[in-house]
Amino acid sequence: MPTYSYTAEDPEKGCASCRRGFDLRRPMDRAPLTHCPLCKQPVTKLVTGFNTPKLTKPLSVSDAKAAGFTILEKRSDGNYERL
Ligand SMILES: [Zn+2]
Repeated sequence: MPTYSYTAEDPEKGCASCRRGFDLRRPMDRAPLTHCPLCKQPVTKLVTGFNTPKLTKPLSVSDAKAAGFTILEKRSDGNYERL
């Protein structure tokens, strides 16, 4: 179940929990929360980096070389070329 972070749209009006922001575990198929369950002030969903798998950047040739790999590229004539 994903955890979402919410914060009050207007922190001046929010209660102690939504003023600072709060986390809520919520099933994916439920509509996003629009109001604080405690003070009923409008809240906005925060996009956080938590719980999301890190995007893995595809290794470029230079990255691989920097990591000590030898890159071989197959040429059209069937031989491999060291890059
Ligand atoms: Zn609140």
